Amino acid sequence: MIGVTVLGATGSIGVSTLDVLARHPDRFRAVALTANTDAERLAAQCRQHRPQYAVMVDPTAARRLSELLAGMPDRPEILTGVEGLEQVSALPEVGYVMAAIVGAAGLRPTLAAARAGKRVLLANKESLVVAGALLMQAVADSGAELLPIDSEHNAIFQCLPPNFSDGLDRVGVRRILLTASGGPFRDWPLDRLSSVTPEQACAHPTWDMGRKISVDSATMMNKGLEVIEACWLFGTDTDHVQVVVHPQSVIHSLVQYEDGSVLAQLGNPDMRTPIAHAMGWPERIDSGVTPLDLFAVARLDFQEPDFARFPCLRLAFESARAGGTAPAVLNAANEIAVAAFLDRRIDFPGIAAVVEGTLEALPRESVAGQGLEFLLDIDRRAREQAEHLVLVRG
Ligand code: NAD
Ligand code: MG
Repeated sequence: MIGVTVLGATGSIGVSTLDVLARHPDRFRAVALTANTDAERLAAQCRQHRPQYAVMVDPTAARRLSELLAGMPDRPEILTGVEGLEQVSALPEVGYVMAAIVGAAGLRPTLAAARAGKRVLLANKESLVVAGALLMQAVADSGAELLPIDSEHNAIFQCLPPNFSDGLDRVGVRRILLTASGGPFRDWPLDRLSSVTPEQACAHPTWDMGRKISVDSATMMNKGLEVIEACWLFGTDTDHVQVVVHPQSVIHSLVQYEDGSVLAQLGNPDMRTPIAHAMGWPERIDSGVTPLDLFAVARLDFQEPDFARFPCLRLAFESARAGGTAPAVLNAANEIAVAAFLDRRIDFPGIAAVVEGTLEALPRESVAGQGLEFLLDIDRRAREQAEHLVLVRG
């Protein structure tokens, strides 16, 4: 029986993870569930999945959770703060940690899980963007397993040979083809983008996700973050990753080999497939996902990405090539800009403008030999700068 910690249990990925977990009570048990502020939902999840620990990061919400669970038999121990998240990521009774917190807030517990040698099921791409070198080193040092949950990266993992970490060139890979839906505004007239509302940006055509990643998909910053994520996970660089717009989201990504073969992974757009893959790996287990009906899909389309329409994608490629602190600055500025857009403090094109302005204001520094505190300081400075730019624009 494998003990599982679900970081970000109340979110879109967290809920899908618990759905898969509940299908295999003989294999998995929830040891710890965590959330930021949603005490009601975490309480309901605790009643259903009966974990030993529940972490509510926000102390006020933690008190509310405690009230909600009063009288429950085998009530979980309630922890709070980032320390609580780190603690449940490193428990000896936990084998797998689902890293499904949104944003750089997921970095500390994800790193704690990696340092403790867990199987890290990585949905929280932002932690690799902010601290890729640190996280990959922690995985190598502890012997942790890092399995991608992001559908594209999970697809690539499935299409690569088991020894891909020897180097993609050594296993005959020419390049990775990272698919992107193009989001809801792929075909909108450019002059209408300034009128986009948060509701329109969050209405993704093929995936049902949290609000931040939905906006990231609409700006294609999500694909930019994923390019950086792919470089770390598969030990490659941006010259070997091509973004392919594929509106149906049926092919989740592809790997092109030297001999002309292209391997793809297909499936209905439902995150329970990559979650079940990574939880069952190397075995295959039921995910509850409806089997793909190719006759219903009927056609698959592909387009080149439009860097003029999606400046966030260009900024992410530039940051990936620059390296050093640039990806961490990109990520922090984007988190602030997306939150400001969702609060209607800046317009949709303002997201890219704030990110670009922040990158210009905080010149790239080297991260060689630097630790977590340095990166968190960069993250904090980039957030302050981005907040300033939001105020100037708003
Ligand atoms: P979501 O907004 O639905 O859920 C986020 C979760 O994180 C919630 O449980 C919330 O309580 C928790 N959280 C938020 N802020 C926190 C903080 N400061 N400290 C601790 N916990 C905090 O997000 P989501 O869509 O489930 O995405 C989660 C992660 O998975 C993101 O990194 C996203 O990029 C990635 N991802 C999501 C999908 C998807 O389909 N939703 C697909 C691929 C990757
Ligand atoms: Mg993805």
